[in-house]
Amino acid sequence: MTKKNSIIIIILLFALSAKGQTIGHVTVKTWPNDMKSAFSFTFDDCFKSQYDYALPVLNSFGFKGTFYVIAEEPTEQGEPLNWRYATWDQFREIAQQGHEIGSHSMTHPHLQTLQTGDINTPNTIYYELYQSKKLIENKIPGIKVITFAYPYTEYNPTVISIAGQYYEASRRGNGIPNNSVITGTDWQKINSYEVQFNLPRDIVNDDNDELNEIENTLQNEVIDNGKWGMLFAHEVLPFSQIPDAVAAGYWYPMSTEWLNAFCQWMKNKSDNNDIWVNTVANVTKYIKERENFVANVVSVTDTLIVLSLIDNLDDTIFNYPLTLDIQVPSVWETVLIKQGGITIPTDSIFVAGNNTYVRTKIIPDAGNISLKKDATTGIAINNNIPIEYKLMQNYPNPFNPSTKIGYIIPFESKVSIKIFNLLGQEIKELQGSTESAGYHEVLFNASNLASGIYFYKIVAISTNGKNIFVDTKKLNFTK
Ligand SMILES: [Zn+2]
Repeated sequence: MTKKNSIIIIILLFALSAKGQTIGHVTVKTWPNDMKSAFSFTFDDCFKSQYDYALPVLNSFGFKGTFYVIAEEPTEQGEPLNWRYATWDQFREIAQQGHEIGSHSMTHPHLQTLQTGDINTPNTIYYELYQSKKLIENKIPGIKVITFAYPYTEYNPTVISIAGQYYEASRRGNGIPNNSVITGTDWQKINSYEVQFNLPRDIVNDDNDELNEIENTLQNEVIDNGKWGMLFAHEVLPFSQIPDAVAAGYWYPMSTEWLNAFCQWMKNKSDNNDIWVNTVANVTKYIKERENFVANVVSVTDTLIVLSLIDNLDDTIFNYPLTLDIQVPSVWETVLIKQGGITIPTDSIFVAGNNTYVRTKIIPDAGNISLKKDATTGIAINNNIPIEYKLMQNYPNPFNPSTKIGYIIPFESKVSIKIFNLLGQEIKELQGSTESAGYHEVLFNASNLASGIYFYKIVAISTNGKNIFVDTKKLNFTK
């Protein structure tokens, strides 16, 4: 750079800062979409009743839950069914629908009574923690098991330190909400709340006091304090089966009716931007990315800002989009955002004080981000309505030669799904039709393509024209 150019840049930066502006400055929101708090549903012990009853309730509200599997218990088709447990086929289906599968150890022992051992010696802490992760990842190709739930919610410092070698987060009990920032070994002591239903439980209304209690707790301790709440549950059954289940000694079984009523309350809070509902894995990813990312301005002109966003975390795990407010020149009214050649949707462009900001969602380490003032193709959406549309990670991933891409649309919509290469060139259109509200899947066969990373992009426009959803994800074709 010549001396003259340096002087011009210094004058330009001075001129920008003199007006109280730092063009390209990035602020990350505590929770996605600037929601106030976060919440995760978790289900322990891999019961089939969770597949039969909890899963459809979660899906009907568009919520994603975490299912903690005791790795040795599910069986494959043709093998005799194991007690009340779901099968691997059922867990593959749960994973495919975008829910998280976590580990609940190999055999559900009292971990703190075991020898430390090693990963190859059964009945040791290392074996229970390491082999359960490997077995689940082997049974459900394409997933990464990154969170753990302690059997009986028991642990000691040795268990915690070994859990920290294999898991991004580990869940215990104790009922206290988690802070929005978590550090060090606290990641292996994530708190969760169990609903302990008082007897009698003869009629559905007997469980209403527990519903009021958790709703009040979530409002006062989680939403109002910006924290992360978590619920853990065991069996989920229609209420007609609850009295028998209680008599048979099931551990605080939850009724489908109760879960449905709780989800309805949660949905209202989520629609009101009060609470972000997602899996333990995704909340963990969001917090760790939020606390680790570094944003840098690569270049600034009147019409173009180029930024880099890196988090120094493992990109095969930490690929959840962060909600960012990026300052742009006050004269901008529209913006076109691209990352790695792919157009990124703009949530909103808004003025706060004397400054103008663009709100968008960016995955760290997925390429430089360019923001272009663009009056013709730019997107100027001025609302913060939560996006209920969802594009799922393809399954399996990596894949050869075909994979499934799932998505959820809350309204009847014209849906386009296209595959792009790393240069942003369109490779294939998988869907281009009007679809009914609900969960859908398309198959992508890559057998005529070269191995490598591709992107898939959804554009969904509701039939009434009022809702537009755009999202892009990476897929990995490995021959
Ligand atoms: Zn358990």
